[in-house]
Amino acid sequence: MYDFIIIGAGIIGTTIARELSRYEAKILVLDRSSDVANGQTIANSAVIHSGHDPEPGTLKATLCVRGNAMYDTLEKELHIPLLRTGALVLATTDEDINMLNMLKDRAETNGVPEVGVIGREALIKLEPNIQDDVIMALSLPTTKVTYPWEVAFAAMENAIQNGAEFKKNHLVTAIERQDDGFVVTINHQETLMTKHIINAAGVFSDEIKTMTDDDAPFAIKARKGEYLVLDANCKGFVDHVLYPMPDDKGKGVLLIPQVHGNILVGPSSAYVSEKDNLKTTADGLSYVVTHAKRIAKDIPFKKTIRTFAGIRASSTYGDFYIHESKKTPGLFHVAGIDSPGLTAAPAIAAHVTEMVINAYPYPKKTDFNPIREKPHLFRDLDEAHKQVLVKKDNRYANVICKCEQITEKEIIDAIHGPMGSDTIKGIKKRVRAGAGLCQGGYCESKVLKIIATETGKPLTKIDYYEKDTPILWRETKVTS
Ligand SMILES: Cc1cc2nc3c(=O)[nH]c(=O)nc-3n(C[C@H](O)[C@H](O)[C@H](O)COP(=O)(O)OP(=O)(O)OC[C@H]3O[C@@H](n4cnc5c(N)ncnc54)[C@H](O)[C@@H]3O)c2cc1C
Repeated sequence: MYDFIIIGAGIIGTTIARELSRYEAKILVLDRSSDVANGQTIANSAVIHSGHDPEPGTLKATLCVRGNAMYDTLEKELHIPLLRTGALVLATTDEDINMLNMLKDRAETNGVPEVGVIGREALIKLEPNIQDDVIMALSLPTTKVTYPWEVAFAAMENAIQNGAEFKKNHLVTAIERQDDGFVVTINHQETLMTKHIINAAGVFSDEIKTMTDDDAPFAIKARKGEYLVLDANCKGFVDHVLYPMPDDKGKGVLLIPQVHGNILVGPSSAYVSEKDNLKTTADGLSYVVTHAKRIAKDIPFKKTIRTFAGIRASSTYGDFYIHESKKTPGLFHVAGIDSPGLTAAPAIAAHVTEMVINAYPYPKKTDFNPIREKPHLFRDLDEAHKQVLVKKDNRYANVICKCEQITEKEIIDAIHGPMGSDTIKGIKKRVRAGAGLCQGGYCESKVLKIIATETGKPLTKIDYYEKDTPILWRETKVTS
């Protein structure tokens, strides 16, 4: 019997698991996917917003501003990447200036520190590529950028270090309330028992709700956002997160420097009926290009190395919905977590944990360790350190991914680590093999072979991303 089953291993489920692992409780995180953070958490703008946008008084506003500050602690404890870019919200008309002043007041009301307004002359020094008609900007120095997948991965790794468990490819298909807790059915087959459930299922959180007789007032209205990713050699084209004025579709199309040097351009915003259709569309991408051109001149779109889409778990409730179910006590919904959910995540995790522990007390552990050791890529080590490692294991000398300079030994470690992966994309996320300019064109087949050798599976059974997504279907040439 678990004390807590957390449904969903996105940034919300994993950070809650880490917070709850401060207590003497048996915790399990489940995800339908083949890895942590394969939902909204892998496909977003990666911005740790300052908090100028949410309506004052909402949970979004309070937890965004608090979460932004908490990322500084996460950086120290979990060794996650954090780029302190600051942000500029750009105004081009007199009407925009009125809006900009309103946003400044709103930011100050929300408690955002160091907010200011700057004119074109100062602006052009900071960002020489902005459009000619930009006249003023709201400056938000506390805006940062992270690598969201790694934050969730690190939080889960640290929660596991502190006793929590994670199970991938575990789709929750039914929930039954019993006197002493819940029976949770996985993949229509296996059952697991738990005293409490935390629903952190992202776009599917309303479907978890309907597995019980709960009538909590939220439903998810999935909203797609599409992006272009510019090559890392565009680094420096912009140094700040650049926002346009917000409109009825949200914060608009942004230019965002990424922690690995790329520039992200997007997202679009369109309601969709299919919650897991992550295909990009010609309309979506052309919307992104048109709107991005209003922010900056000569954006190097020719350097686009890939496109992707993410789906926001926007809700009919209008704010984050974080409550224990009235009809089904012991079931906690952490739902409707769209933007700024990545930013707010550490604050949401602390808020949920306080709510849960107040309702169902557990003693605090005396030996909780908040530190996740810093991961190092071989390419970033100094020469002397590299030589020592190569002497110990010459697979460090075999560079598999030429673009990102990732070695065979690093790929093997990523397969066998405590949060190891046996999919092509799982390896890419862990050690960046295939994340460079050629996007795996050179190294993917080599990674495939290494996974097959290390796991003992045939090449045709190695998945690209999710379960049953092999790249190879059958042999086409037989060598004797
Ligand atoms: C286009 C876009 C841009 C964004 N930009 C930003 C930004 O710049 N800054 C910011 O702060 N926020 C941003 N957000 C919002 C942020 O990404 C989300 O708020 C955050 O990732 C939500 O995390 P989550 O854990 O709730 O959801 P998810 O990451 O979606 O995790 C939910 C998990 O639940 C699992 N799951 C679902 N159903 C089941 C089931 N039945 N059984 C088992 N597992 C299940 C899924 O597989 C998934 O992994 C953006 C979102 C999008 C889509």
